[in-house]
Amino acid sequence: MGRLKSMPSRLGSMPSRVAAMPKVADRFYQSPEWAEARRRQPDKWCAVCGSTKRLILDHKQERKDGGADLDPANLEWLCQPHHNAKTAEARARRARGGR
Ligand SMILES: [Zn+2]
Repeated sequence: MGRLKSMPSRLGSMPSRVAAMPKVADRFYQSPEWAEARRRQPDKWCAVCGSTKRLILDHKQERKDGGADLDPANLEWLCQPHHNAKTAEARARRARGGR
């Protein structure tokens, strides 16, 4: 049961449109390489507000936009609210077809 408890609870409340994202992205975020990148990335506070709670390691340039998967220069910590805001912004920009 330990594995189930460690699953992000936010998945259950996400709209199905988002939950249906490509499986390949899910596998990346479960990979040992990603776990290692998260261990190594310094400055464990939100790059926007400095919070140290509920941090998510974010790709500054998103992987779908060609950002490097594991380059520390392309990674930064964001708190969950700021990560959600950035993701929503990027999604909206992509939907408009812009950059
Ligand atoms: Zn923040």
